[in-house]
Amino acid sequence: MTSSTQAPSPVASPRLAVEARHLVKRYGDLEVLRDVSLEVPEGSVTSIIGASGSGKSTLLRCLNLLERPDQGDLAIADEAIRFDRNPQGDIVGLDRRQLQRLRAKVSMVFQQFNLWPHFTVLGNVTEAPMRVQGLSRRRAIERAEHYLERVGLADKRDGYPAYLSGGQQQRVAIARALAMEPRLLLFDEPTSALDPERVSEVLGVIRDLAAEGRTMVLVTHEMAFAREVSDQVVFLDRGFVGEAGSPRQVFEESQDPRCRRFVAPAA
Ligand code: ADP
Ligand code: MG
Repeated sequence: MTSSTQAPSPVASPRLAVEARHLVKRYGDLEVLRDVSLEVPEGSVTSIIGASGSGKSTLLRCLNLLERPDQGDLAIADEAIRFDRNPQGDIVGLDRRQLQRLRAKVSMVFQQFNLWPHFTVLGNVTEAPMRVQGLSRRRAIERAEHYLERVGLADKRDGYPAYLSGGQQQRVAIARALAMEPRLLLFDEPTSALDPERVSEVLGVIRDLAAEGRTMVLVTHEMAFAREVSDQVVFLDRGFVGEAGSPRQVFEESQDPRCRRFVAPAA
């Protein structure tokens, strides 16, 4: 073995799950993302905070291409795209095959769970792996059972969403996202629609996923939680990144007056 005699190698820059440069997104005349750059290293947790209307959901939706940025560069798990407009004014920079590849790498969990009400819990978790990834029913069921176990709901597999609490429905939605085995997990205010006593069971699942080293981007108003689980916190302010850094930098040391004011109750 020669490794023990070698000088330590310089710190390799971590691989990035997300690399966004100068993203711009408009709805008509409304410029919602005005210049957003963001790097998310593999295996890290990024929380996005900011006032209502600051563009948090829009940014997440751009990261999984539910929305197409008007301008900017975006790389998701090594798939790079440059968005721009052609002379006709159409947004260019993404073909259908690339969109499919990208979508397969990213899963999203929504505030309102968005489970399919006419499918059982198991059906909710097996549907996309069968349809999108072409898994056999048997393999999809194995996978679904694994992830339902993971979120503590194996015993609910044959029930329907309407019979579950909000917290349970959100945990099914997380199992559904995990069943795609994505490189990147996005959460858009996953606990905002829950009764207060149900919040902690969902945060507990997210905390476990963070500890496992999953790459996640989380929009949240749970400041204490963001501070606890995040490697990076991004304060979004009227379509710009107002502040970004470690939880300590954003919650305690920010020089940006709007960021200071926003996080004040949590500091
Ligand atoms: P946040 O998640 O931070 O509350 P959003 O990204 O949802 O903010 O919205 C940012 C702004 O963009 C808001 O002013 C909102 O009304 C507007 N907006 C969001 N989605 C659309 C849309 N599909 N069409 C038009 N305006 C939109
Ligand atoms: Mg939002």
